[in-house]
Amino acid sequence: MKLNLYSNNTRFAPSPTGHMHLGHVFSALFAYEAAKKLGGKFILRIEDIDSQRSNQLFEESIYEDLDWLEIKYVNEIRHQSDHMEDYKAAINELFKMGMIYQCFCSRSEIKAEIMRAGNAPHEEDYSIYPGTCRRLSVEERKTKIDQNLSYAWRLNIRAASKKLGNLIWNDIRLGQHTVPVGIIGDVVLARKDIPTSYHLSATLDDHIQKIGLVTRGEDLVTATHIHKILQMLLGLKSPTYLHHPLIMDTKGVRLSKRTRAQTVKSLKASGLKREDVIDLLGKKNILSLLSLIN
Ligand code: GLU
Repeated sequence: MKLNLYSNNTRFAPSPTGHMHLGHVFSALFAYEAAKKLGGKFILRIEDIDSQRSNQLFEESIYEDLDWLEIKYVNEIRHQSDHMEDYKAAINELFKMGMIYQCFCSRSEIKAEIMRAGNAPHEEDYSIYPGTCRRLSVEERKTKIDQNLSYAWRLNIRAASKKLGNLIWNDIRLGQHTVPVGIIGDVVLARKDIPTSYHLSATLDDHIQKIGLVTRGEDLVTATHIHKILQMLLGLKSPTYLHHPLIMDTKGVRLSKRTRAQTVKSLKASGLKREDVIDLLGKKNILSLLSLIN
């Protein structure tokens, strides 16, 4: 398919919360090869909004592994933690548009939400926030703010849905998605403890960094629904998306930090060379995905 990209840049956007495993290598290598094929830049972005979970050692380890894999990115690396003002400005704009509201819900409720909002929701369960704080009256809301209660900002999906109608977007590999916006729920766009979330910062950064083609695992397809909505609300450039298959272990379980997938470091320590690691991913898989990009 002839792609109509607004820019030829691609990106790899790891969170420095663990060592890279084969799943990350697949994502990074595919995005890198795609940029080469398109003649665009391959951009590395460090998604470190969560200062509790991010760690300098893991960040160094990402650079080391990418070097070892001979995956070359542009010099300028964006650290999300340096750009909180950008995210705050977007929250302000959404607030003025009446698209978000303060949510004061209790810690335990928020805890579950934090797991979803701060990190890329690779295991999104889409349990929908019941809307408790959306229904607060003006006075109730004012009282809570006057009491200095801390709050997260949630997307008012009903308001967004009214404005945008159904969402239709196309994935190069998976085809067209038609999403009744209402199924998404009032996701957190800024956490209580951080003025942003994975959804907001990744969407804004893809725009700011002029990423024309976003490539990432297919477990993030549902996240893209939210990113598309944010792009439409904020008038951002919309990249083209290609969600690739996930790398599974021998039991068919998705590789993740949580399942303690073998890391690049451990593969390297066991004597594997760069080429061996790439063979493990299946060169053919990468080539057949690349054939979708013209
Ligand atoms: N930081 C996210 C992750 O590590 C990036 C997801 C994305 O590519 O948008 O999963």
